[in-house]
Amino acid sequence: MIKNISSSNNLASNTHLTSHKSVYISTYGCQMNVNDSERMYSLLEMANYVQVDTPEKADLIIINSCSVREKPVHKVHSEVGRYRKMKEKNPNLRIGVSGCVAQQEKDKLLTALPVLDFVFGPDNIDALPSIVSELDRKSSENDKSKINYTQFRHRESYNIETYTRNPGVATFVNITKGCDNFCTFCVVPFTRGRERSRNLKSLVDDINRLIQTKGVQEVTLLGQNVNSYESDCGADFGKLLETLCANTDIKRVRYTTSHPKDFNEDLVRILAKYPEKLCKYIHLPMQSGNSEILRRMNRGYTREEYLEKIKMIKSLIPDVSLSTDIIVGFPGETEEQFMDTVSLMQEVAYETIFAFKYSPRPLTKAARFENQIPEDVKSRRLNYLFEKHNELAFELAKRYENQTLDVLVEKVEEDGTASGRTTHNKLVHFIGSQSLIGQIVPVRIIRSFPVNLRGELVQ
Ligand code: SF4
Repeated sequence: MIKNISSSNNLASNTHLTSHKSVYISTYGCQMNVNDSERMYSLLEMANYVQVDTPEKADLIIINSCSVREKPVHKVHSEVGRYRKMKEKNPNLRIGVSGCVAQQEKDKLLTALPVLDFVFGPDNIDALPSIVSELDRKSSENDKSKINYTQFRHRESYNIETYTRNPGVATFVNITKGCDNFCTFCVVPFTRGRERSRNLKSLVDDINRLIQTKGVQEVTLLGQNVNSYESDCGADFGKLLETLCANTDIKRVRYTTSHPKDFNEDLVRILAKYPEKLCKYIHLPMQSGNSEILRRMNRGYTREEYLEKIKMIKSLIPDVSLSTDIIVGFPGETEEQFMDTVSLMQEVAYETIFAFKYSPRPLTKAARFENQIPEDVKSRRLNYLFEKHNELAFELAKRYENQTLDVLVEKVEEDGTASGRTTHNKLVHFIGSQSLIGQIVPVRIIRSFPVNLRGELVQ
């Protein structure tokens, strides 16, 4: 899911803006990074910056990097390289790198890429207004030194307000940051630091504010492992969900990402208790279907334990929709062990999978494991997995045909195509009017595809 996003929201017009400075953020990686970029834009807007849609129009460029997938450092180097000429023409242009690569490489980036002015890590996003005012001070004093904001803030409480400019109907709300799990393939604990949770009351107040002032109808609670949420008042993730259902007018709640080792029956009973608000969609990353590989990944569960959880979930929420993350070609993975992953995928019957080839990440244990799998073998396994999943997904999507599903309408295009999601996280397209945005409406499904559904509004 590596992507480079240039959002069109809140863009400055092409006309030259004299009273504002302009910022362009290039975003790589997961939803967490997309959300971080939105927070950066919001913070910079408060500091009198406006978003522009190309780096050429910007006074400030930030590359919000991701180090979860392949060649992340190389990607930062090549993007910064593209801005070198722009900086030669405009010495006042300021360029920085944020995100996981900034956290991981720190001074190495500043040394290797002289055009860079600053780096800051995911734990320092809220320092951005201070960073830009420090940049202004340095400019006025002709101070050429660089800024490095990559110290972790483990001891500080995680107490933020959600900043989002145009959240629309559905928005993301961070509930935890960091991760303490140290899966052997994952760099997140090294780049996002120790796990911390937001306070329950301030989180509920934050979501109530989003509902009342921004018209938000659906929130997706975000964290590296939402199941280990623990407020300083002692409330766990289940208590958070119950409180949101009981004490707010939110129409729907989603969450990502869950960890199978912490996904317990108490939580599933709470999900089953509030079927209107708590969506019947669970993303439960299995990563591998083989117990020995799972042990070497340090995932904390076996194939059998994972399957037991799936059985329990399906018994309490029979029409649940499931999705997962899968890594193929983990060091030492045999053909037989890979086929265990294929068979687990088929047995669970995931409607959606997010599958990737293993690639070694610096600092992680698995990068030092012997028996790294050749690229061509990883590619062949990944293609085979997708092929098998396509067959499955077509069949699974058919269950929605001829059903009337509740769709929360998120947008309506000029040609009248309305789009929204079902509780199962299925994207549905149908013909509808602008007045439907923000409403939950019944839509009869006439055609199914693996990633979306087509339907007609039930009048
Ligand atoms: S749970 Fe594992 S995969 Fe997920 S962020 Fe933490 S270390 Fe990474």
